[in-house]
Amino acid sequence: MTVSGSSTPGADRDAGAAPGTAASEALFARARAVTPGGVNSPVRAFNAVGGTPRFIRSAQGPWLTDVDGTTYVDLICSWGPMLLGHAHPAVVEAVRDAVGRGSSYGTPTEGEVALVEEIVGRTPVEQARLVSSGTEATMSAIRLARGFTGRDVVVKFAGCYHGHVDSLLAAAGSGLTTFSLPGTPGVPASSTELTLVLPYNDRDAVTAAFAEHGDRIACVITEAAAGNMGVVPPLPGFNAFLAETCRAHGALMISDEVMTGFRVSRSGQWGTDGALEGWKPDLVTYGKVMGGGFPAAAFGGRADVMAHLAPEGPVYQAGTLSGNPVATAAGLATLRNATDEVYARLDVVADALRAGVAEAFSAAGLPHVVQSTGSMFSVFLTDEPVVDFTGAQRTDAAAYGTFFHAMLDRGVHLPPSAYEAWFVSASHDDAAVDHVLAALPEAAKVTAAAIAARGGAAGEAV
Ligand code: PLP
Repeated sequence: MTVSGSSTPGADRDAGAAPGTAASEALFARARAVTPGGVNSPVRAFNAVGGTPRFIRSAQGPWLTDVDGTTYVDLICSWGPMLLGHAHPAVVEAVRDAVGRGSSYGTPTEGEVALVEEIVGRTPVEQARLVSSGTEATMSAIRLARGFTGRDVVVKFAGCYHGHVDSLLAAAGSGLTTFSLPGTPGVPASSTELTLVLPYNDRDAVTAAFAEHGDRIACVITEAAAGNMGVVPPLPGFNAFLAETCRAHGALMISDEVMTGFRVSRSGQWGTDGALEGWKPDLVTYGKVMGGGFPAAAFGGRADVMAHLAPEGPVYQAGTLSGNPVATAAGLATLRNATDEVYARLDVVADALRAGVAEAFSAAGLPHVVQSTGSMFSVFLTDEPVVDFTGAQRTDAAAYGTFFHAMLDRGVHLPPSAYEAWFVSASHDDAAVDHVLAALPEAAKVTAAAIAARGGAAGEAV
């Protein structure tokens, strides 16, 4: 290993040895021969930052170890699920126990009941159904909203991602209240022609859309706090405004908490706005943390709306592996161990890292805005606060690529894209945090030097 399992992995890099990547490169070549781009989800290919993705052999707590034996502090955390850190003993034990009793039955189990009870106990939802991915959750919630309201139009916000559902892979049309174009080949125009894409955090655009199409709008789907264009929190009162506008027009508000659920607080983003302000979304989608690193997700909400789902109601939805006993056991163990102490630790870790980033970037003279909701945060390389997708696109993505690699070389694995949230876990101990803090100043200097070398203009290749 480049680094042993000591409390300060990466320390030996000061000796000047560049961490090897030969084994990852060999695997990437094999992978590309049999899988498009060599990966099973596009962002993993490092296309946005260049270079070779690290193939991970194992992970423990906050540390990832790749196939070359190099260890990194993990600030991806599987894009959100690993709230407790990797291989948490309670999750490992629950999974071992579950899988030893058989991996799938296709009949109901007590674990499913317990997991949904845990979700209902923490959130505004009265009933929930388990599915296997966040995409499935949002797709099903939209079908249910359309079935419940008898309307077809869906409103979403630019820069918000809700999984690869055809009708949600939509690019904004030419005007605010015009219907959308497919955002990717393979999605027929007929799938997005009932989707309105509006600017995030823009109340006027929502009001205008409802004024023009209000009696056709089935639902507004919004990330509870945007995390898929980098972290862009809702402006104060924006989510409440959406809930109220939907109610006034007989539409449903779908709050997508796949990323924020059980992470931003014990009850997700809703715990930081709706619970305090006294409103509830009609439907909510969950995933990531509630699966504890396994494929489990859910959608839920008002009991009268959920009653429209088969077999109780007419709206069809089903899944062979929905409520899978192993995934359910991992999710339940994760949520039961997601205690107040865990959320307190997440906040401490995120605070330290946010402060470290701001200090290092300021010292290096790099423009930056650090934005967060709870312990989820990201850094935009721009001077202005970001409130929507247009603002997010002002970040210097090329400079982020330089920064990403400078951190990777120093044993810190950031998300390989400028438009993603950074995720921490409660297992990020002081050694892991200190390791990141130690890497930041040099990485920021390398980034500033690269910007200077290209003449200081934003957005050019660094
Ligand atoms: N919704 C949000 C807010 C997400 O962040 C994601 C994935 O990142 C999804 C839905 C889709 O979830 P999945 O990747 O499990 O299909």
